[in-house]
Formats: sequence, structure tokens, C-alpha cells
Amino acid sequence: MKNQKCNYIAGKWVAGETEIENLNPSDTSDLIGTYAQASSSQLNDALEAAEAAQRTWGNSGLEQRYNALTAIGQEMMARSAELGELLSREEGKPRAEGVGEVYRAGQFFTYYAAESLRQIGDTADSVRPNIEIDVRREPIGVVAIISPWNFPIATASWKIAPALAFGNAVVWKPANLTPASAVAFAEIIDRQILPAGLFNLVMGSGGSIGQQLVESSSVDAISFTGSVPVGRGIAAAAQNFTKVQLEMGSKNALAVMDDCDLDLAVSCALNGAFGGTGQKCTASSRLVVHESLHDAFVEKLVAGAKALRVGHALEEGTQIGPVVSEEQLSANLDYISAGNAEGAELLCGGDRLERASQGYFMEPAVFAGTNNSMRINREEMFAPIACVIKVGSYEEALDTVNDTSFGLTSGIMTKSLSRASHFRRNAKTGCVMINLPTAGTDYHVPFGGRGDSSYGPREQGGYAKEFYTTVKTAYIASGDPQ
Ligand code: NDP
Repeated sequence: MKNQKCNYIAGKWVAGETEIENLNPSDTSDLIGTYAQASSSQLNDALEAAEAAQRTWGNSGLEQRYNALTAIGQEMMARSAELGELLSREEGKPRAEGVGEVYRAGQFFTYYAAESLRQIGDTADSVRPNIEIDVRREPIGVVAIISPWNFPIATASWKIAPALAFGNAVVWKPANLTPASAVAFAEIIDRQILPAGLFNLVMGSGGSIGQQLVESSSVDAISFTGSVPVGRGIAAAAQNFTKVQLEMGSKNALAVMDDCDLDLAVSCALNGAFGGTGQKCTASSRLVVHESLHDAFVEKLVAGAKALRVGHALEEGTQIGPVVSEEQLSANLDYISAGNAEGAELLCGGDRLERASQGYFMEPAVFAGTNNSMRINREEMFAPIACVIKVGSYEEALDTVNDTSFGLTSGIMTKSLSRASHFRRNAKTGCVMINLPTAGTDYHVPFGGRGDSSYGPREQGGYAKEFYTTVKTAYIASGDPQ
């Protein structure tokens, strides 16, 4: 336990009773470190400290919040090269993407620093004489934040920054696959002068510490990003009347129309299907392609997939890093078998790759001849696997895009303004991309989906205040009521 990286509870670094090892998925001989696992009583300490700290912070001056959030964001941006390398080392995304993610995480803090100064409410006259009404927002209290491994710093930041900006306390449980980014993040927050316990990092497995956190009656709100099954379990916590916000998986589709720019369509498909090793909730694993350019599109897509450089995340020139874990890689290979068994045609990839280091490398795969009923087109694979579905018309493409239980993002490649406008209005997803990859969103506008992809108020941008605040309506009699 000597070199253990600790949890951050009530303003102190606290060793765990147990610990886990964090290994580099690009090279499993590289031990990044050992990380504390919080005990049940340590989680209770965090919750108790958070409740007390929130009472102070909820009454803090807006400039105090603005200054703290600005400093956190600026440090993240200034150190994005160093922290991005750490992130890539433990998660496996190529270095440039790791650096970009940390920079973006900093932008969430500077954005919400500014939002903390924009806490403007509404006023109204009462229907009764001599009474005025004001409507303002107040913090909700203690927020439990549960984040996934695929965007370990960005997801946590788009939750933690608004939580603090709007006057709440935070108990954060990151994914156990990416504890190094979490500790680095907590160290930055620790440098601020904040009430002890306002921000707590409790590392541990989802099934133990995560479950205890969501069931706790000390938690006023839970913001979760992860898989649908875990999200469903968390929604059950709403039985305590806890406010819940869930961002979950998806099965996004990119429609490629007969009037599109073919090379642009191929480049957006490659980006959306294989970027981040396909481990993005916004990935486009379904490519819905018009029959008139189907063969030309598939030929270029396969050539592009074969040309992608898969390798160690920190190696110069790597475009696709490893899959995050042995478990995830084996699930991906099972989907390749499922596609073959269902009669899809595997045109390239789909095998485990050997590289100089021992890692979880997989060759990007393209299936053609698929239909939308196949498992590979129904289930979120979270894998570098693209499935092409041939359609005969725009109408069929739109129906296929919408034929899913999920609804996070969708996209269309077309030069027709009327088709693009029709698609924008009729795609049943929370985000729509026109002539862009399905992945890649901004930080100052809402993000979320429909169906099984999301539950509760939207995240990000100004919309985040719906979740992180509660509304109070005050009636003020200005004189003797008549
Ligand atoms: P999981 O749902 O397995 O885990 C997400 C988080 O929940 C982790 O911190 C995990 O902890 C924790 N957790 C697991 N079980 C419980 C539980 N019973 N109670 C409380 N917390 C629990 O998802 P992954 O981490 O594997 O992430 C991949 C999934 O996340 C994909 O389905 C993806 O689509 C989705 N995702 C969605 C995004 C969106 O915004 N819509 C963005 C990014 C990912 P631990 O891992 O330590 O066990």
C-alpha cells in the first residue's frame, strides 16, 4: 500500500482498505499505479462532509465560485499535454485525443465559471394586489457523479463543473478502469480554497461503492453516464425521490445519400465508426447507404479502414489505439462471430492484432450485406466495427436510422437542403449532424438523447441548470394586502 494513490474525502487524501492495479491497455507490462478502493464507511464520511460543505458553498459569493472554476479550468488547459498523455496511457486513445480531451475538460470549467455569474431569475406580479413574486434557482444539495472510462476527464468535468457552479457539493465515483485521470483531476481541485468536503473522490467498483452511493438517502441528485443496464438500476434509486439524470448508450446511424460528396461521406464514416476505437456513445456503427453509390462507398470505406494505423496509444502516427480491456476485446470478437453467424459479409478486419507490446489491439472491421434486424445493428457494440445497410431511397434510410431503441445522435450526408432539413426535423435523436461525423459535439450547447439513450434533463450548456438547481418561487407583500 506504500505507493497507493488515495481517495480524496473531506479535504484529505485517504488510503483505501483495498486497492487495484491500473494497467496500460497498449502495454500490459506497464503498471500505471495502484489505486485506493473506498470502504463503505469512507463513502459515508464523504457524504457527511459533502452535506456540511454544501451549506457553506451554497451561500458563497458568485465570484468565489467563478474564481475557483476558472483556476481549475486554466490549470487543466495549461497541463493538457502532460495529463492527456496520462489519460492516453490508461485509457488507450491516441495521444492527440487524450490531450484534446483534457483541454476540453478545462473548457467546461471556464464555461461554467462564467455561468456561475449568470444566475438570473424571473419576476412576476401576483394576481393579488401589492404582492410581487420572484423565481430563483437554488442548489439541489449533494450530487453523486458516476462516470465511465471512455471519456474519463471530459464526462466528469461536464458534470462536476456545473454542479459546483450552481452551488452543490459533489461525491464522484469514476470508473475503476481509469483512476489515474481521476486522481490527477482531484489534485487540481485540491489546490483551490474550497470548503473541506465540497468535492470528494471515492474510487471503487460500481457494484459495491457505486451501488451504495446511488442508494444513499444523503444524495439529492445522481448524474450518471454509462451503460443502459446500470442506468436502469440507478433509475430505481429514484424511488427515494432522488433526482436522476442518465446518459447511456446508443446505436447511431449515418445515412449516406446518393447526392452526397462521396469522399466526405467516407471520411465522416471512418471518423464516426472507428475514432476512439469505436468506444464512443456517439459512434456511428450503422452506415445506411443508398444503393446507387453503395459499392463505390464500400470500396473506399474498406480501403480507408485497412489504412488506419492501429497501435500503442502513445506511439507517433497511431490513429486507433487499443480496446480498453481484455473483457471488452473479447466482447468485440464475439460480435464479429455474431455478424458472421447472422450472414453479414465481413469485408475486412475483425481480428486481434499483435504489436510490439502486449495490448488489446483489434483490426477495424467492416461488415456489408447487413440488415437492421441483426444483433450487430441492434446492440451497442462499443467496438471498431462498422455495419453497412443498403437502402433504396431517402425514406427507407430515415426509417432505418430511426428503427432503434436508442436515440443519441444521427447523421446524414447529402447536398440537398430539403433532405437535410427534413432529416433534421424527423430524425428521432437528441443530436443531428448534417455532413459531419455523428461523433464530435460542442461544450456550450445541450447534449443528450432520446429513447434508451437518455433519461432526465439535458447535460451541458445553459441547459445543465435544470438538473443542478431547484426552483424557488417567493411571494413578497410590499405593503398591507388590500
Ligand atoms: P458502465 O455502465 O459499466 O459503467 C459506468 C459507470 O458506472 C462506472 O463508473 C461503473 O463503475 C459504474 N457502475 C457500474 N455498476 C454500477 C452500479 N451498480 N451502481 C452504480 N454505479 C455502477 O459503463 P462503462 O463504463 O463500461 O461505459 C461504457 C458505456 O457508457 C457504453 O454503453 C456507452 O455508450 C456509455 N456512454 C454513454 C455516454 C453518453 O453520454 N451517452 C458517454 C460515454 C459512455 P466501474 O466501471 O468502476 O465498475
